[in-house]
Amino acid sequence: MPELPEVETVRRGLAATITGRTIADVEVLHARPVRRHLPGRDDFETTLVGRTFAEPRRRGKYLWLPFVDGDAVLAHLGMSGQFRLEPSEVPEAPNTRIRLQFSDGEPELRFIDQRMFGGLSLSPGGAELPAEIAHIARDPFDPEFVVSDVVRRLRQKRTSVKRALLDQQLISGIGNIYADEALWRARMHYARATQTLPVARARELLRHAADVMRSALDDGGTSFDSLYVSVNGSSGYFDRTLAVYGRDGQPCPRCGTPIVREPFMNRSSYRCPRCQPARLYLR
Ligand SMILES: [Zn+2]
Repeated sequence: MPELPEVETVRRGLAATITGRTIADVEVLHARPVRRHLPGRDDFETTLVGRTFAEPRRRGKYLWLPFVDGDAVLAHLGMSGQFRLEPSEVPEAPNTRIRLQFSDGEPELRFIDQRMFGGLSLSPGGAELPAEIAHIARDPFDPEFVVSDVVRRLRQKRTSVKRALLDQQLISGIGNIYADEALWRARMHYARATQTLPVARARELLRHAADVMRSALDDGGTSFDSLYVSVNGSSGYFDRTLAVYGRDGQPCPRCGTPIVREPFMNRSSYRCPRCQPARLYLR
C-alpha cells in the first residue's frame, strides 16, 4: 500500500489537473473497484455527472476528491491503484477500471488497478473529511498535528515502537517502508517497548518519520513498485536513497554492517544489527 509521500504525490498531480473541472461522463469498466459505492455501479456512473471537483485532499495514506457541492469521491489506492490523465483517444492501459470525462474536454481521468484492492466511492458530505476515514489520526504534515499529544499517547501504549508507528489511529501515513527508515535514522530497534521511550526519544523518532517522508516527497515518492506512478505516468526514485528497507545483506550506509531482514507482523522488518541492536527491548 502506498504510504504518505506516494499518496501526496498523487494528490498534487490531481490537484493540478482536475480541480475546478466538471464531470461530463463516467464509465465503470469493472464492478469491483466501485464495490464500496453501496448504491451500485449504475448509480456511480450517473451521480457524478455534472459535479465539479474542488482541490483533492489527503489524510495519511487516504485520498479524497471533494466536489464543490460538499460531497467527495473517496479513493482507495489499495495495492496497485493509480490515476492517469490521458487524452481520450489514447488506448486504455491494461487494467483500466474507470474513466471520467470532463465538460471542458481533454484530458480524461482514468483509474487503473491491476489487483483491484482499491476503488472509488461517493462519500456524501465528505468534502471536509469523509466519515469512512474520520477515525484516521492526523499525519505529521497536517498543520493541526500536535507532536506532544502523539508522544503522550505513544508512550501510554503497551506495544512496540514499530507497531505504534504503523497504527493509523495514533499517527497516519507511515507504512512498513518509512517506519523502518525512521527507526534506522533514530538508531532504534523496532521491537522496543513504547513505555520505555523517554519523551525526547519519542519526539526524535517522530521527527525522523516526518523527515524521511518529506525527503521521499521531495523526490517524487518511492518507486519500489512500478505500479505506483504519479498521475502523468512518471515514477518517483526515492528507493535509491532508502537506507535499510529492502536492503538485506547490503551494508548499512552508516556503519557498513550488513542489513538484516526479520519477520514482523506477517511482513518483514529491516534493520542494522549494529546501529539498532536488540539489547533488552525484546520481550
Ligand atoms: Zn549501521
